[in-house]
Amino acid sequence: MPFSDDVLAQSRQRLESELVEIEKELAELGAEADGSIQVSLDEGFADAAQATSERAKVLSFVEGLIKHLHDVQSALGRVDRGSYGRCERCGKEIGPERLEAVPTARLCISCAQKKR
Ligand SMILES: [Zn+2]
Repeated sequence: MPFSDDVLAQSRQRLESELVEIEKELAELGAEADGSIQVSLDEGFADAAQATSERAKVLSFVEGLIKHLHDVQSALGRVDRGSYGRCERCGKEIGPERLEAVPTARLCISCAQKKR
């Protein structure tokens, strides 16, 4: 066990509240968790070019949110499977400080640096 139950419970709590936040943001944007946007953004813009660029902005923001949503979901899955906090590349423990900063981290700090 890389972490005590306390740390795991805390991480789960953080991830779950992050999930709620992301879902709220997506809902505010009128976006679904699968990336589809239901609300038409074309209304209220003077010209089509502005509407298109605004839509692209929202879409890329939604894309980022959904990517983060998946990260959080898979981190929660790792909490459930008991592999949370373990580096996916080298299998070593990811430091608690790093998980504190990046709760969805899949790699330890040295693997993450090598990847870049
Ligand atoms: Zn590693």
